[in-house]
Amino acid sequence: MNLDDVVSGCESNNPKYWEDPYLKLNKTLLRKVVFEDRKAVYLITDPTIFHPKYGGQPSDRGKVYGKGFSVNINKTMRYKRFIVLYGKVEFGVPREGDVVEEIDWSLRYTLMKRHTASHLLDHTLRLTLGSHIETIDSWLGDDWYISYKGPLPAEELLKKAVELENSLIKEGYIVSSRLVSRASLLEEAKNSPNLTRLPELDVYRLVKINGFEDIACSGTHLRSISEIGKVIYIRSEPMQDGFRVYLSL
Ligand SMILES: [Zn+2]
Repeated sequence: MNLDDVVSGCESNNPKYWEDPYLKLNKTLLRKVVFEDRKAVYLITDPTIFHPKYGGQPSDRGKVYGKGFSVNINKTMRYKRFIVLYGKVEFGVPREGDVVEEIDWSLRYTLMKRHTASHLLDHTLRLTLGSHIETIDSWLGDDWYISYKGPLPAEELLKKAVELENSLIKEGYIVSSRLVSRASLLEEAKNSPNLTRLPELDVYRLVKINGFEDIACSGTHLRSISEIGKVIYIRSEPMQDGFRVYLSL
């Protein structure tokens, strides 16, 4: 299926997880329904609480249901300026109009924990190594990891960074966010570990844990780092131009 056909004639839809990542249910509008075959279907809802696979975050799963129908959503995609849902009809025939979205909250909450814990490790690794750090990529799904530029540090240092992370988690610091223009991004978020990887946008969201450095990020975060629980260091390995740290909760 060509996704251009799926999104054609639609206004770009708004991500509601930006405002409130804790929404599990969302009464919204189903704007478009495109059948791939009798059961498989693409949906565009606006606004949506489904987070697409993007920036190391696996896609949300869940359900979209309306009067007389229900669709199991297996995949959420980002395509151009759209968030596109893909799934299988459970019963009925999906129609445009009022619907309810329901995300797999246990999956999302795990991803929010891993995501926030990844930012916190950026911070504690910077403190432990005593230098600016730059992220290469990350994966928040199973085999959760974060990759950084530079030579692989001694394992004791990585374990120390995770230990420091766990002691900060016990402090229960608050996670806040604010929006800034592109012009003030470099000034306000000069220590953000992902600056060189950001797409060109008009507005950026800066996320902050306690009074630590600002991080440019559009992902879903916890309200308080105490919700992370405990981070466990699994292993690390060198990679081209950097190293990878594997963690678990
Ligand atoms: Zn983030």
